[in-house]
Amino acid sequence: MAVSKDSCTITPKGDIYKCVEMIYEEKMCVGNIAKGYNDNYYNFLRAHQYDDCFSKGCIYIPLCGGGCIRSKELGRNPCHKIIFDNLVSDLIQIKYKTEVLKQN
Ligand code: SF4
Repeated sequence: MAVSKDSCTITPKGDIYKCVEMIYEEKMCVGNIAKGYNDNYYNFLRAHQYDDCFSKGCIYIPLCGGGCIRSKELGRNPCHKIIFDNLVSDLIQIKYKTEVLKQN
């Protein structure tokens, strides 16, 4: 996740990116292992990507994290709420059938 302080991707040249989707797009580079982080790194960590989600009252924020920041930057819809709506329901049914009914 690009806004997480604990994840990054490092190229063979030592350039650091916050996501594999951003590799080799120089303006997305957040630093280099020999030189340290640049301001881009801190800009990613401060990105407020949840504001729209909170205003929608979305229940998937802890699961989704507010969508892909790269998609937003490219003007694509980062929201996969429809998928979560279907997926979560299916996963609950599968879990119920495989774990709860199996015990009885
Ligand atoms: S599903 Fe959509 S509204 Fe919900 S947290 Fe993800 S991006 Fe935000």
